[in-house]
Amino acid sequence: MFFDAHIHNKKDEQGGFLVGLEGSPHFEGTLNNFEVLELHNPKEDYISFYYVKNSEINKKIEHEYLKFHPRREKYSPKDIINSIKTNNPKCAMIDTLNEPFWTPYDYWNIAREFPNLTFIFPHSGGYLINDFIKICHFQKNVWLDFSLTHTNLGCFEDKEKGLAYINQAIKYALNSPFKNRILMSSDYPFFSQVDVVNFYKKLNAIDLLNSNFYSLLELIK
Ligand SMILES: [Zn+2]
Repeated sequence: MFFDAHIHNKKDEQGGFLVGLEGSPHFEGTLNNFEVLELHNPKEDYISFYYVKNSEINKKIEHEYLKFHPRREKYSPKDIINSIKTNNPKCAMIDTLNEPFWTPYDYWNIAREFPNLTFIFPHSGGYLINDFIKICHFQKNVWLDFSLTHTNLGCFEDKEKGLAYINQAIKYALNSPFKNRILMSSDYPFFSQVDVVNFYKKLNAIDLLNSNFYSLLELIK
């Protein structure tokens, strides 16, 4: 039994955060905003995140959970700060893979600007994972997941192919003072959900990650 905090379609999880995907390119098997909102059901442990398109960045959105993708939509930190002020969401997800345009401090400054808002920073910055675990440690309204990063860069601890510091950072985070703000996310269907579950099973972290998901769910419901 497990939860998945970043999925673009339902799979074998008991509950999760369903993330809408809009714009181009379109990826087979992913749900758009309309489709994820249909599945929004906090009582059944599913919360859906509305993907904020560039054409809507200055608009009021009628949903309390928002996902921002700075690279795909070419957002500046200011754009996102203004949208959060306009919308006052219950939780905001900001994709962290946007080099060379944003630095980790751009994310940190946004989280500092809204200390009472819960932020999820999916992927933990990829190559910049060390900066993002540092942010999570010091900034109490920040939650992280390692989707994509543990697959593409860490290669699930493969000794030959995996980047060692990525795997060290993940293991450190799972045993750290901020381990209660780490989430398990697969980014399915971009990546295999079962591979991600097996990776965390091997690290003996499933119970921790399930309980983290549940506390976050309660916090933002
Ligand atoms: Zn995703």
